[in-house]
Amino acid sequence: MTEQPCPFCEIVAGRAPATVVADWPETFAIVPLNPVVDGHLLVIPKAHVTDFVADPATSATTMLRAADLAGGHPAGSMNLITSRGRAATQSVWHLHLVPRAEGDGLALPWYSGRGKRVAS
Ligand SMILES: [Zn+2]
Repeated sequence: MTEQPCPFCEIVAGRAPATVVADWPETFAIVPLNPVVDGHLLVIPKAHVTDFVADPATSATTMLRAADLAGGHPAGSMNLITSRGRAATQSVWHLHLVPRAEGDGLALPWYSGRGKRVAS
């Protein structure tokens, strides 16, 4: 069985299409295939990394670029989200920058269902 090529590395290599909205020497930002709201972006390091722990300098640079993008965005509220590991729903490592608005229906913050314990 052949391993699936990393979709982001395919974009960096010019072998896959993408709507690139920002391009820096080490990082780029694209519109995801299925944006959850208008303005949803993915901020991705050009060097493939396993997750945000694998190369902290790359993680920091990617975060810096995401902060630059967010600072120039008209939405006052946004989520900057990433994940590590299968149980955390990680795919190929990247950051999600998601502009938010009151009543947009996106399911954050998380709710564990555990609630507060009441002393008896
Ligand atoms: Zn990759």
